[in-house]
Amino acid sequence: MTITKKVLMLPGDGIGPEVMRQVQRVMDWMAKKRDINFDVTEGLIGGASIDAHNNPLTDETLADAMAADAVLLGAVGGPKWDNIPFDIKPERGLLKIRKEMGLFANLRPALVFDALVGASTLKEDVVKGLNIMILRELTGGIYFGQPRGVEERDGVRFGFNTLVYSEPEIERIARVAFDMAMKRNKRMCSVDKANVLESTVLWREVVERVAKEFPEVELSHMYVDNASMQLVRNPKQFDVMVTTNMFGDILSDCAAMLTGSLGMLPSASLGAADETGARKALYEPVHGSAPDIAGQDLANPLATLLSFAMMLRYSFDMGDDATMIETAVQNVLKGGLRTADIMQPGMAKVSTTVMGEAVINELNKLV
Ligand code: NAD
Repeated sequence: MTITKKVLMLPGDGIGPEVMRQVQRVMDWMAKKRDINFDVTEGLIGGASIDAHNNPLTDETLADAMAADAVLLGAVGGPKWDNIPFDIKPERGLLKIRKEMGLFANLRPALVFDALVGASTLKEDVVKGLNIMILRELTGGIYFGQPRGVEERDGVRFGFNTLVYSEPEIERIARVAFDMAMKRNKRMCSVDKANVLESTVLWREVVERVAKEFPEVELSHMYVDNASMQLVRNPKQFDVMVTTNMFGDILSDCAAMLTGSLGMLPSASLGAADETGARKALYEPVHGSAPDIAGQDLANPLATLLSFAMMLRYSFDMGDDATMIETAVQNVLKGGLRTADIMQPGMAKVSTTVMGEAVINELNKLV
């Protein structure tokens, strides 16, 4: 039986629309070859929405996001919007959609494809076969805590933010992390700074309590300073890492660079499960809008395609199809095709469009 899924596509700015076009082609391919149809709505976010509506995320687009089974986003931002007021900057659209959809769990896999092992700045034996998942809490902590601001007190200016976590906030992200660990290698490392920050003393306490529900998962704790060292020293010691918003922001970028290729990294952000088990979800590549190469058919579309594969796995329970797309990507790389950002000696440099085509050719072989 063919199922239909409602997908909102938000290409955004810069290379967003170019990489998104390649996903659209894979969706069209799937509609023909697999038992799924995509009911796609397209919307504006970031700079594109500012240009059209003077607002980085309109209520209409937000309503479309809430009504969709999943949202796929390209990237937002660019120099054109660097000097506009802070509260309507492109990034505000991104923060708002995450907050309004309640996307509290950010999944950032760091996976090294065999064909790209040389792209990492680290030694091959350190990163070969790397496959870790970093879970970052996304809607709480210091990025959202109140009070915040810059103000003058007795003639001296202060800039301040608040790091705050409630027990339920910690509990729900811990639960997603343990669930994920159960589906992977059953090891989880919770990263905090419990030697200095009270909010993460509570974090550690709550993670330990939730751990009792998952006796099969081997839990460890690490201070964030040590975790950052371990990530570059011996990243393969980790399976799932779970951490706060700000620590996760930094550690997931560090883990991203273990793979050496920003254009290859997907991500997912999940909300709370409803009574049917379905979660609000947004999928996006880790990279930004790459204004330096936008509009030139140079961008690597694989991070966005792999984000779409995550959508199939986590939102539509189509793990086999997700694996098929990941295998197609792997085969294309094995075959020697590279976009400029991952180019290596002896390989064939191709455009965004040709890379998308190559993935579809591989899918045709695999189906
Ligand atoms: P960026 O990720 O856009 O680009 C960094 C470098 O990597 C650039 O040289 C770019 O050409 C290259 N690159 C990135 N993605 C690529 C791809 N798919 N294929 C080939 N090369 C790729 O980061 P930046 O330059 O710091 O930021 C540019 C704009 O993007 C800024 O406005 C920033 O605010 C925004 N940004 C948005 C997001 C997001 O939407 N989630 C994330 C990061 C940055």
